[in-house]
Amino acid sequence: MKAFLVDCEQENGAQLYFAPTRGKAKAMAANEEGINITEVSSCQRKPEYDEYSPGPVPPSVLLKDGWWIECSGCGKQVWDDCDEDDPVFSGQSVWCSAACKERDEVREASRKADFAALEKRATEATLARFPGVSVYLVTERYHRPEPYVHFHVPGDTQGIGWEVGSGFVECAPIDRAAWDAYEDRRATERALDT
Ligand SMILES: [Zn+2]
Repeated sequence: MKAFLVDCEQENGAQLYFAPTRGKAKAMAANEEGINITEVSSCQRKPEYDEYSPGPVPPSVLLKDGWWIECSGCGKQVWDDCDEDDPVFSGQSVWCSAACKERDEVREASRKADFAALEKRATEATLARFPGVSVYLVTERYHRPEPYVHFHVPGDTQGIGWEVGSGFVECAPIDRAAWDAYEDRRATERALDT
Protein backbone atom coordinates (compact mmCIF):
# COMPACT_ATOMS: atom_id res chain seq x y z
CA MET A 1 0.00 0.00 0.00
CA LYS A 2 1.02 3.60 -0.54
CA ALA A 3 1.15 6.46 1.92
CA PHE A 4 -1.01 9.57 1.39
CA LEU A 5 -1.31 12.72 3.43
CA VAL A 6 -4.99 13.62 3.41
CA ASP A 7 -6.31 16.95 4.60
CA CYS A 8 -10.01 17.24 5.42
CA GLU A 9 -9.57 20.61 7.13
CA GLN A 10 -10.86 19.11 10.38
CA GLU A 11 -9.49 19.76 13.84
CA ASN A 12 -6.96 16.89 13.78
CA GLY A 13 -5.17 18.41 10.78
CA ALA A 14 -3.85 16.41 7.85
CA GLN A 15 -3.40 12.69 8.58
CA LEU A 16 -1.44 9.89 6.95
CA TYR A 17 -3.35 7.00 5.41
CA PHE A 18 -2.13 3.83 3.74
CA ALA A 19 -4.21 2.73 0.77
CA PRO A 20 -3.76 1.14 -2.66
CA THR A 21 -5.06 4.25 -4.47
CA ARG A 22 -5.49 7.98 -3.92
CA GLY A 23 -9.29 7.59 -4.06
CA LYS A 24 -9.29 4.91 -1.35
CA ALA A 25 -7.09 7.07 0.90
CA LYS A 26 -9.53 9.97 0.49
CA ALA A 27 -12.47 7.65 1.21
CA MET A 28 -10.80 6.39 4.42
CA ALA A 29 -10.14 9.94 5.60
CA ALA A 30 -13.65 11.15 4.72
CA ASN A 31 -15.16 8.20 6.55
CA GLU A 32 -13.05 8.85 9.66
CA GLU A 33 -13.90 12.55 9.73
CA GLY A 34 -17.57 11.97 8.94
CA ILE A 35 -17.58 14.05 5.77
CA ASN A 36 -18.29 13.38 2.10
CA ILE A 37 -15.35 12.31 -0.09
CA THR A 38 -15.96 15.37 -2.31
CA GLU A 39 -15.25 17.58 0.73
CA VAL A 40 -11.67 16.29 1.17
CA SER A 41 -9.50 19.32 0.49
CA SER A 42 -6.19 17.69 -0.46
CA CYS A 43 -4.49 14.33 -0.83
CA GLN A 44 -0.72 14.22 -1.32
CA ARG A 45 1.43 11.19 -2.07
CA LYS A 46 4.10 10.59 0.61
CA PRO A 47 6.36 7.87 -0.84
CA GLU A 48 8.88 8.40 1.99
CA TYR A 49 6.42 6.63 4.34
CA ASP A 50 5.60 3.67 2.06
CA GLU A 51 8.06 1.47 3.95
CA TYR A 52 5.81 1.71 7.05
CA SER A 53 2.77 0.26 5.22
CA PRO A 54 0.17 -0.60 6.47
CA GLY A 55 0.99 1.89 9.24
CA PRO A 56 1.16 3.43 11.67
CA VAL A 57 4.40 5.34 11.12
CA PRO A 58 6.52 5.24 14.31
CA PRO A 59 6.15 8.50 16.26
CA SER A 60 9.93 8.96 16.41
CA VAL A 61 10.00 9.12 12.58
CA LEU A 62 7.13 11.61 12.46
CA LEU A 63 8.84 13.89 15.00
CA LYS A 64 12.07 13.85 13.04
CA ASP A 65 10.10 14.87 9.95
CA GLY A 66 8.69 17.92 11.70
CA TRP A 67 5.31 16.65 12.90
CA TRP A 68 4.14 17.27 16.43
CA ILE A 69 2.50 14.63 18.64
CA GLU A 70 0.42 15.12 21.75
CA CYS A 71 2.12 14.05 24.98
CA SER A 72 0.30 11.04 26.46
CA GLY A 73 0.89 12.39 29.95
CA CYS A 74 0.18 16.12 29.96
CA GLY A 75 -1.26 16.68 26.49
CA LYS A 76 1.22 19.30 25.39
CA GLN A 77 2.59 19.33 21.86
CA VAL A 78 5.85 17.43 21.53
CA TRP A 79 8.17 18.61 18.77
CA ASP A 80 11.51 17.12 17.84
CA ASP A 81 13.52 20.03 19.23
CA CYS A 82 10.99 22.01 21.27
CA ASP A 83 12.82 22.10 24.59
CA GLU A 84 15.62 20.62 26.65
CA ASP A 85 13.72 17.43 27.55
CA ASP A 86 14.05 14.41 25.30
CA PRO A 87 10.75 12.80 24.35
CA VAL A 88 10.20 9.20 25.47
CA PHE A 89 8.58 6.64 23.16
CA SER A 90 6.65 3.49 23.91
CA GLY A 91 4.78 1.84 21.03
CA GLN A 92 2.69 4.56 19.39
CA SER A 93 2.74 6.74 22.53
CA VAL A 94 5.01 9.68 23.19
CA TRP A 95 5.73 11.56 26.42
CA CYS A 96 7.33 15.01 26.51
CA SER A 97 9.92 13.83 29.07
CA ALA A 98 10.89 10.85 31.21
CA ALA A 99 9.51 12.69 34.27
CA CYS A 100 6.14 13.20 32.58
CA LYS A 101 5.96 9.50 31.65
CA GLU A 102 6.77 8.58 35.24
CA ARG A 103 4.02 10.87 36.62
CA ASP A 104 1.64 9.32 34.09
CA GLU A 105 2.53 5.80 35.30
CA VAL A 106 1.95 6.82 38.94
CA ARG A 107 -1.46 8.26 38.01
CA GLU A 108 -2.32 5.13 36.05
CA ALA A 109 -1.30 2.86 38.95
CA SER A 110 -3.42 4.89 41.34
CA ARG A 111 -6.40 4.78 38.94
CA LYS A 112 -6.02 0.99 38.76
CA ALA A 113 -5.83 0.67 42.55
CA ASP A 114 -8.92 2.87 42.97
CA PHE A 115 -10.83 0.78 40.48
CA ALA A 116 -9.74 -2.50 42.11
CA ALA A 117 -11.05 -1.19 45.44
CA LEU A 118 -14.33 -0.17 43.80
CA GLU A 119 -14.66 -3.60 42.16
CA LYS A 120 -14.11 -5.32 45.50
CA ARG A 121 -16.66 -3.15 47.31
CA ALA A 122 -19.25 -3.58 44.54
CA THR A 123 -18.75 -7.36 44.43
CA GLU A 124 -19.11 -7.65 48.20
CA ALA A 125 -22.28 -5.51 48.16
CA THR A 126 -23.72 -7.69 45.40
CA LEU A 127 -22.99 -10.97 47.17
CA ALA A 128 -24.47 -9.61 50.40
CA ARG A 129 -27.65 -8.65 48.58
CA PHE A 130 -27.82 -11.60 46.16
CA PRO A 131 -26.02 -14.56 47.74
CA GLY A 132 -24.62 -17.20 45.41
CA VAL A 133 -24.61 -15.16 42.17
CA SER A 134 -21.42 -14.87 40.16
CA VAL A 135 -20.20 -11.35 39.42
CA TYR A 136 -18.41 -11.05 36.06
CA LEU A 137 -18.14 -7.32 35.43
CA VAL A 138 -18.16 -4.09 37.43
CA THR A 139 -18.42 -0.80 35.54
CA GLU A 140 -18.58 2.85 36.45
CA ARG A 141 -21.37 4.76 34.82
CA TYR A 142 -21.17 8.35 33.74
CA HIS A 143 -22.71 10.68 36.33
CA ARG A 144 -23.95 7.81 38.53
CA PRO A 145 -22.62 7.70 42.08
CA GLU A 146 -22.66 3.92 42.43
CA PRO A 147 -20.99 1.26 40.27
CA TYR A 148 -23.00 -1.07 38.09
CA VAL A 149 -22.57 -4.80 38.53
CA HIS A 150 -23.18 -7.56 35.99
CA PHE A 151 -23.67 -11.04 37.37
CA HIS A 152 -24.99 -14.45 36.46
CA VAL A 153 -27.62 -16.60 38.10
CA PRO A 154 -27.98 -20.24 37.02
CA GLY A 155 -29.58 -20.51 33.57
CA ASP A 156 -29.40 -16.88 32.42
CA THR A 157 -28.02 -16.04 28.98
CA GLN A 158 -27.20 -12.34 29.08
CA GLY A 159 -26.51 -11.68 32.72
CA ILE A 160 -28.35 -9.60 35.29
CA GLY A 161 -27.53 -5.94 35.94
CA TRP A 162 -27.70 -4.10 39.24
CA GLU A 163 -26.68 -0.62 40.31
CA VAL A 164 -25.24 -1.06 43.78
CA GLY A 165 -27.83 -0.06 46.35
CA SER A 166 -30.73 0.22 43.94
CA GLY A 167 -34.08 -1.45 44.64
CA PHE A 168 -34.31 -3.38 41.39
CA VAL A 169 -32.25 -5.43 38.93
CA GLU A 170 -32.24 -5.21 35.15
CA CYS A 171 -32.63 -8.36 33.15
CA ALA A 172 -33.40 -9.22 29.53
CA PRO A 173 -36.89 -10.67 28.94
CA ILE A 174 -35.27 -13.95 27.88
CA ASP A 175 -33.65 -14.24 31.34
CA ARG A 176 -36.75 -13.39 33.34
CA ALA A 177 -37.50 -17.04 34.13
CA ALA A 178 -33.93 -17.69 35.35
CA TRP A 179 -34.13 -14.63 37.59
CA ASP A 180 -37.56 -15.61 38.99
CA ALA A 181 -36.23 -19.12 39.71
CA TYR A 182 -33.27 -17.62 41.58
CA GLU A 183 -35.59 -15.42 43.64
CA ASP A 184 -37.87 -18.37 44.45
CA ARG A 185 -34.90 -20.43 45.65
CA ARG A 186 -33.73 -17.48 47.79
CA ALA A 187 -37.18 -17.08 49.31
CA THR A 188 -37.25 -20.77 50.20
CA GLU A 189 -33.76 -20.59 51.74
CA ARG A 190 -34.74 -17.56 53.78
CA ALA A 191 -37.88 -19.33 55.01
CA LEU A 192 -35.79 -22.34 56.06
CA ASP A 193 -33.39 -20.05 57.92
CA THR A 194 -36.07 -18.61 60.18
ZN1 LIG B 1 4.06 15.61 29.08
